[in-house]
Amino acid sequence: MQGDFQKEEAFLREKFREYYSKHKVTSVPEIDKREFGIGNFGKKIVRRHMSFGDYAELNTFLRSEAPLFISYSAAYYRDASARPMERKGLLGADLVYEFDAGDIPTKCKEKHDFWICPKCNSTGKGSVPKCPKCFATTKQYEFPCKRCIEETKKQVIKLLNILESELGLTQGISINFSGNAGYHVHIRSDTIRHLSQDARIELVDYLTLSGFVPEHNGFDLSTKMLKCPEYAELKGAQARVMQHMIKFIMNANTDELAQYGCISLPSRRKREGLKLASYIHENKESVVARIKKGTLFYIGSRTVASAFWRAIIEHAVRLASIKLDRQTSIDIHKIVRVPDSLHGSSGFIAKTVPLDELKEFDPFEHALAFDSGQIKVFINKAPEFKIADDTFGPFENEQAELPTAAALYLVAKGVAKLCD
Ligand SMILES: [Zn+2]
Ligand SMILES: [Zn+2]
Repeated sequence: MQGDFQKEEAFLREKFREYYSKHKVTSVPEIDKREFGIGNFGKKIVRRHMSFGDYAELNTFLRSEAPLFISYSAAYYRDASARPMERKGLLGADLVYEFDAGDIPTKCKEKHDFWICPKCNSTGKGSVPKCPKCFATTKQYEFPCKRCIEETKKQVIKLLNILESELGLTQGISINFSGNAGYHVHIRSDTIRHLSQDARIELVDYLTLSGFVPEHNGFDLSTKMLKCPEYAELKGAQARVMQHMIKFIMNANTDELAQYGCISLPSRRKREGLKLASYIHENKESVVARIKKGTLFYIGSRTVASAFWRAIIEHAVRLASIKLDRQTSIDIHKIVRVPDSLHGSSGFIAKTVPLDELKEFDPFEHALAFDSGQIKVFINKAPEFKIADDTFGPFENEQAELPTAAALYLVAKGVAKLCD
């Protein structure tokens, strides 16, 4: 949508102020040691190096300034507002893992995401960075739906399982909806706080299985008898990979086994690979029983079988890995959305979600900040979307009177303007 959004930004701020005057934010432990940053319409961070002595100070600020975005540091500092960074005096940092629907491919993105060319006004579905007509850089509009956000929740649940079963970590974990397209997991404890940068890197690599080499993990794909680690004794990442491999073999049909198993075979050997896939599928119980005892069964050529099993192991590694962005996960100085604050790209609450409510949590129902009133807006373009029990859109160049939460959502996304 062209033009300026001054009126819309002011309106969002007014609504945010109204919200903050009724709701206190108290979700940042040891608030006086944290760095804060705020953002404007369309810009998540315009100012950093801010600090607040206590919750009263933070909430006074939220009520008076009503920033469209507010983030805080995973790190604790002696003097959080000092600059440059080195002068803050780092005291430690929480672990914060961010899961964003944008990083997980879902088919529905082709339906609800779209782009507009600012130069020639062409538009289309999905994500296209360059306009196919005039080659200008397009503007992307993302409308992650419930399904997209559910995918990020699956990653969160996978992470929680690993933290508990492999690392024995169950305390000090808090989860919040990011406010727009995913979830954030905060892990806080004395041990975590003092983890070195190297330990943080090691932990992320462990979770994402980056650099998992089968040969370093009990697999032998070169000898006459193809081998895997014996299941009963396994722990940690090896157990995780083996569990996913076994689950995949038990649930896949011949086509799926062939699709992944034959991926690196030259075309003249694909037939042999397909034969092996079909054999494995038809005898999956006995194949899995042998896997548990340390043998990767095969028929036909060992060369084909070795490549086949390697590809299946690689697929299992992908299934067993947590989809995390390595760079942001290890960045000790990063700032992340303040839980329970409002998100300026959706108008939703970055709501804290208790562990036992995570499965049921639906941001389009449970993260809404406004439940009364109607607002008249002119909508440039929007896909169908759901807020609470109602479905809206799709809209294209039309005026509509919408419930406040729905109107705010479109205004925050930059696709709707207020009507006079
Ligand atoms: Zn164009
Ligand atoms: Zn979707």
